[in-house]
Amino acid sequence: MTEAEIIDGAATAARLRSGLKHDVEAFTVKYGVAPGLAVVLVGEDPASRIYVRRKGEQAGETGLQSFSYKLPVETTQAELLTLIERLNTDSCVHGILVQLPLPKHINTPEVLRAIQPEKDVDGFHVVNAGLLATGQQALTPCTPLGCLTLLRESLPTLRGKRALVLGRSTIVGRPMAQLLLNADCTVTIAHRYSEDLPALCAEADIVVVAVGVPGLVRGAWLKPGCVVIDVGINRVPAIDPEQAAAGKTRIVGDVAFEEARKVASAITPVPGGVGPMTIACLLLNTLTAAQRRMEQTPPLQSEERAREVEGCV
Ligand code: NAD
Repeated sequence: MTEAEIIDGAATAARLRSGLKHDVEAFTVKYGVAPGLAVVLVGEDPASRIYVRRKGEQAGETGLQSFSYKLPVETTQAELLTLIERLNTDSCVHGILVQLPLPKHINTPEVLRAIQPEKDVDGFHVVNAGLLATGQQALTPCTPLGCLTLLRESLPTLRGKRALVLGRSTIVGRPMAQLLLNADCTVTIAHRYSEDLPALCAEADIVVVAVGVPGLVRGAWLKPGCVVIDVGINRVPAIDPEQAAAGKTRIVGDVAFEEARKVASAITPVPGGVGPMTIACLLLNTLTAAQRRMEQTPPLQSEERAREVEGCV
């Protein structure tokens, strides 16, 4: 039996970033200003701090202008909304990302709704969710966009394929299902209350799993030759009992990888699969938002343009 092709998300993300660097350079030359990404972090969550740092670093490496706002955990809803309002009207900022999760006293849906949809590079605003759901041009959530990019590398055509999305969160499962539907797949969405997951998996040519349950999807559930995209990021004890006893951990996905690779035709590893694509797609969304702004804004008078650009550098 041949083993599945391992879909190398790190390599695809590196290629995407290198293409982006070129496009960002061209944008900057054309408009005299780099696309700007503002990242807002509230509080001290260690994982969020790492994500925000990586986003800033990769934005800089790609030639984007990156603006970082680190606010204390006691920041009020009103203070956060004031900052977002300022970023909405700042012509140097083309994309705004508020790192989730937010502290409990903050109303997350209200904060996400406050971001101008044209600058919502995470694609979480209800306007972007609605545009995606109705098959219109939207800013698409980064992780599902990354999954779709990886899928397209393994499957020349998605049209007519049976796709199963496991998980229905607003940041992964639901937008993923919309993207697959827009790509003409026949889509099933399953979640924690769905019955008989093995039977649903057995029918699927494409399985995208985003549930946060280590190794939930077993190799024996899968249709031979299917393509598996594993979004899960789960920290579990190290394999070696001594290391595990010493508190060492490792990261695994939502799919039993060693089993699944014997059945699928292609599969993403964890780590090194979907993960690296998420930030690359955030950078892509920022460039997209900047291009749309420049194309949709009526040409400014040269003096006005010069003033706007001057303020950004
Ligand atoms: P979530 O908790 O918001 O949603 C989980 C979904 O899985 C829910 O719809 C729930 O109904 C479903 N579910 C839970 N247990 C289930 C079960 N036993 N059977 C079937 N369905 C079940 O999670 P999320 O934010 O969508 O994230 C899912 C996973 O993806 C997590 O491991 C998360 O860390 C990871 N993730 C990775 C990236 C990335 O960049 N690679 C980005 C976002 C999330």
